[in-house]
Amino acid sequence: MTETQASSKKGERIGEVRCQNCFERFSPALGADKALCPACGFEWLISWSGTLAKIRKPVWESWERQLAQVSKKG
Ligand SMILES: [Zn+2]
Repeated sequence: MTETQASSKKGERIGEVRCQNCFERFSPALGADKALCPACGFEWLISWSGTLAKIRKPVWESWERQLAQVSKKG
């Protein structure tokens, strides 16, 4: 838990998220609702707290429906 990187440049790595599909890191546009992963092309819904971005869920809605169906089974 000791990430002490020399952060002399402020505000350069704001809003960095990690793609939950391919685990590549990328930075969506500040305040953007959605962001496209440049590595795999998967689109994500982004939530912001200040300048910190977080991936909420995939934009692909049927993906959620599929998960719901699977968990309902049984
Ligand atoms: Zn990706």
